[in-house]
Amino acid sequence: MASSNPLLQLGQLIEDAIKQLHTVTDSPRLDCELLLCHILKKDRSFLRAWPEHELNLQQVDVFQQLLTQRLQGTPVAHILGERGFWTLNLKVTPDTLIPRPDTERLVELALEIIPDKAKWNILDLGTGTGAIALSLAKEKPACHLTATDKSAAALKVAEENAKRNNISNIHFVQSDWFLGLSDNINRAMSQFEMIVSNPPYIKESDPHLKQGDVCFDPITALTSGADGLDDIRTIIKTSTEHLVKGGVLLIEHGYDQGNEVCELLKASNFTQVADFNDDNGNPRVATGYYNQMLIN
Ligand code: GLN
Repeated sequence: MASSNPLLQLGQLIEDAIKQLHTVTDSPRLDCELLLCHILKKDRSFLRAWPEHELNLQQVDVFQQLLTQRLQGTPVAHILGERGFWTLNLKVTPDTLIPRPDTERLVELALEIIPDKAKWNILDLGTGTGAIALSLAKEKPACHLTATDKSAAALKVAEENAKRNNISNIHFVQSDWFLGLSDNINRAMSQFEMIVSNPPYIKESDPHLKQGDVCFDPITALTSGADGLDDIRTIIKTSTEHLVKGGVLLIEHGYDQGNEVCELLKASNFTQVADFNDDNGNPRVATGYYNQMLIN
């Protein structure tokens, strides 16, 4: 019987890697586990359940190579070329923002609003990997999603993600916010019951842009003018032309922009304006209804 070698065992590999990863990431265990799940084609519960499982020498070699890339700063999503979001596995490239857990809050809120079996037309502006649009399309098969992005390269990734996840109640339009919508499709198709967006909202001068994984995201998906609100202002203003009566807008924003975004919504005559925290307790998603019929 082969004697066990702790240096090849999952538990030991993970503990050693965590010690090294502390210097480059706030989530060393998760990062390490995602690399190992990819190599072993197992889920994280396997790693937790079988710390004494031994990798073969080739697997250890691949793990060391991936770990080195992570230690050099490359985000896990770029090393693996994919990221889990909601219930989906999404392809990620340097042309797309790496989907964040914060954005799952927006998906959750949208799903709470969409009535059962509703056949809504829903627009996702700046779709990137398609994370929001594809999650909603999958959960609400009777709805139809229109997903836009200014970047042709990002849209190609989003289209691949639709195929990868077998989602067909969606179409993709290359568009700078709303501009391509009025050009490319008729009026009926440019009116929506719901508009969602995770636009760029970071201040151009924000020092965090030079730190960690965010350095690998496309800058056009991150920053939006001096106060970070340029694109949010455009989206709120122009949404009013593309929402049906009583339609709803959900917009992700920075942790310190909740009040300003709510004021912008009210200034554009949105009602029932509300702001919601993400799972870290930070204000993250603002919602408002447009031209809603008053209930007597
Ligand atoms: N939420 C991202 C971050 O804080 C930024 C993405 C965005 O601007 N929409 O890194």
